[in-house]
Amino acid sequence: MLSMPDSLEPMPEQAARIAILIVDRPMCLPCIATNVDMSIASVMGYLEHISKSVTVSRSATERCRQCGRAAHTVSIVRDGGARPGERAPT
Ligand SMILES: [Zn+2]
Repeated sequence: MLSMPDSLEPMPEQAARIAILIVDRPMCLPCIATNVDMSIASVMGYLEHISKSVTVSRSATERCRQCGRAAHTVSIVRDGGARPGERAPT
């Protein structure tokens, strides 16, 4: 017998996939949705979920690393000290 808890998962697999995709890499919602094969609405729901555990940064001007458009992008900011190898954008 299998029980399927649908509200108690701390970080569902789908949310983890989105998180991995956008760590240090701003991406627009359509590109994220394409990458994980989900609807934009689902992606937004998972982002909400992710933002409870990590810092989700939203930008209206950052370029999407996937399609290159300057759009509303989201990324995960890893905080906690110095970032080795950080360089000024060229
Ligand atoms: Zn994009």
